[in-house]
Amino acid sequence: MALIVQKFGGSSVSDAAAMKRVAARVARTHKDGNQVVVVVSAMGDTTDDLLDLAGQVTDEPPAREMDILLTAGERISMALLAMAIDREGVPARSYTGQQAGVMTDSKYGRASIVGVAPDRIVRTLKEGQVAIVAGFQGVSGANDVTTLGRGGSDTTAVAIAAALHADVCEIYTDVDGVFSADPRVVPNARRIPVLSTEETLELASHGAKILHLRAVEFARRYNVPLHVRSSFSELDGTIVRNPTEEDPMEEPIIAGVAHDRSQGKVTIVGVKDIPGSASRVFSVLAGAEANIDMIVQNPPTDRQGVTDISFTAPKEGIPALVAALEAHRAEIGFEEIQHIENVGIVSLVGAGMRTNTGVSATLFGALSDAGINIEMISTSEIRISVVTLPEKLDDAVRAIHSAFDLDSQDVEAVVYGGTGR
Ligand code: ASP
Ligand code: MG
Repeated sequence: MALIVQKFGGSSVSDAAAMKRVAARVARTHKDGNQVVVVVSAMGDTTDDLLDLAGQVTDEPPAREMDILLTAGERISMALLAMAIDREGVPARSYTGQQAGVMTDSKYGRASIVGVAPDRIVRTLKEGQVAIVAGFQGVSGANDVTTLGRGGSDTTAVAIAAALHADVCEIYTDVDGVFSADPRVVPNARRIPVLSTEETLELASHGAKILHLRAVEFARRYNVPLHVRSSFSELDGTIVRNPTEEDPMEEPIIAGVAHDRSQGKVTIVGVKDIPGSASRVFSVLAGAEANIDMIVQNPPTDRQGVTDISFTAPKEGIPALVAALEAHRAEIGFEEIQHIENVGIVSLVGAGMRTNTGVSATLFGALSDAGINIEMISTSEIRISVVTLPEKLDDAVRAIHSAFDLDSQDVEAVVYGGTGR
């Protein structure tokens, strides 16, 4: 008998028929003799619809009320799913994040889980019932309802799996696992059977919409094995786990290619080229809570004593960052700020890069053959990222994917629902 946490995303419970299909799978897992905890997201586009509704009522919804509103989506699915499982002849009880003991800090809209007290869930399992937990929500120390940020149900599932020492946390979505590239861009991308948490973190933080980043961080920290798979098929998906000493995992040189369209680029032109300039720039940006990815500094050839500093950051945050820099123009000392709304970022990830030379030569060769200009480059031990023009991004992904022989010969990836989660 195993203890299994199963998480179903919004596309897996988009309507009553989908809900019944999920219920049948949960009931089957239970009847096979396992203890099952289900974490469920809001149905289909419910969260977006609720956000929309709030926007029609007011331009500035109070954060506390927004969180109460958004948690309603998951409450609808948890209750309906409990009914559907009950109908399959398996007793099921649904719980809000608060009832399930998911404790968070008090940052509305982007709360972090600080602990899980799963007594109620444990009791439910002991009584032979399936426990269903509303994803994406918890309760703060002040007893207010909070949400974990978009896509946060993955994190709920992994946190609960960690607290219960579950054997596996299955993340059900609308694709058959993690692919070597987004199948919407590379139709012959292949499924990755096993992926380390480290590679998964790099892929997820560079645009691969596979798992909520914090969920992977949790899985790594608490050693929770994940199985990312489709709720629309019976196929095995992708196992994401930490390597262990007995089983170090055979890691291929390259795991996959991620791409990101959510970033923009800012260039601060003519910053004084003296010690302390960069420090002033980045302390202003830190004060504005910037989430900066790449940074490049290069002095212009036509002027002395100044340098240009460019960085990428999520598009929606850039206007605030530019405003913060402008407000400190005098103390930083610069000529002007240029701001490019959209950039494309393609990232190649693989743990085997550490010990293999020649990876960057192949990557830059592929981009050059495809006639793609490189705007910026950044690397980690197991990743190389390149900024391209946004309209060249898909070509860049395909060129790199082929250059590393990642294209699959036979099976084509299937995207069932199309919403991505
Ligand atoms: N329902 C929330 C969202 O759409 C949380 C989730 O799906 O994981 O972002
Ligand atoms: Mg969702």
